[in-house]
Amino acid sequence: MKKTDPEINRRQFLKNGAFAVAAIGAVGVGVNYLRKPNEENTLTLLRPPGAILEDEFIYACIKCGLCVQICPIEAVKLAGISDGLSYGTPYIDPLAQACDFSCDAMQCVETCPTAALDFVLFKKAGEGALIEYQKANPTPGPDYNPFVVQSQAMKATTKMGLAVIDNSTCLAVKGKGFKGVPRESGFEGVYRSPNPKREERKASLVNNHQFDREICDLCVTECPIGEIAIILEEKTGANGSKLWQPKVLDACTGCGVCVMVCPTTPSSIIIEKLEMV
Ligand code: SF4
Ligand code: SF4
Ligand code: SF4
Repeated sequence: MKKTDPEINRRQFLKNGAFAVAAIGAVGVGVNYLRKPNEENTLTLLRPPGAILEDEFIYACIKCGLCVQICPIEAVKLAGISDGLSYGTPYIDPLAQACDFSCDAMQCVETCPTAALDFVLFKKAGEGALIEYQKANPTPGPDYNPFVVQSQAMKATTKMGLAVIDNSTCLAVKGKGFKGVPRESGFEGVYRSPNPKREERKASLVNNHQFDREICDLCVTECPIGEIAIILEEKTGANGSKLWQPKVLDACTGCGVCVMVCPTTPSSIIIEKLEMV
């Protein structure tokens, strides 16, 4: 059996050692890089309802696209290659197509196989609301629909972001009304106008809706969450004149319907991203 040269062994050992250190270093840099989410995307990409914290979401999402497929109004899109580490992950662009909750059951959340969109909070909210309703109404009337009770509680639990009004362009703040359809010709966004009758509650083109308002309040009346999310505040100016101001309240979900139906160009509303904790 050939005896091994100890010097060669030593040189080989040092060489292998140096290679291993370099390799570990490279992996370390890689891991470090991967662990650092793209900060720009963190700030800008509005995630679908139920998204867990962004720096966990980016790893929990397996880019299966199920949330995209299930959304009945195609509100959920997949980020492109220019979005860096967010590539293939879902987001919502409310200006193009807001989430109007017309699936009624947080379907994108429920379908997520890895809980990157986490259904637990919604499930608890729905079940809790049902228990509360049944306590308050031990013998519910013929209009009672447990699905609607649960669905409303689930929507109200959503916290994608918060609507922020640009007072410098808002028509109401200027004391102006609005007549016509909200968006430019050919706009393809759809939403379901708030209407208590379920059978009439189908999503239709934003521009199928004609408005005639003395003072613009589209963001208020078309909000799927209602007056717990946004109101038009009436104030009295210094000279006794009336002033109006849309005011966003805590229950705003960041769904973005108001962004889509606001008739100014550009929209007088943006959604500031928030993260569920
Ligand atoms: S919750 Fe909104 S984004 Fe998700 S499936 Fe329903 S309508 Fe689409
Ligand atoms: S819809 Fe737009 S312009 Fe009209 S009140 Fe709301 S923010 Fe102002
Ligand atoms: S104000 Fe209403 S429509 Fe606008 S983002 Fe909030 S919940 Fe949605």
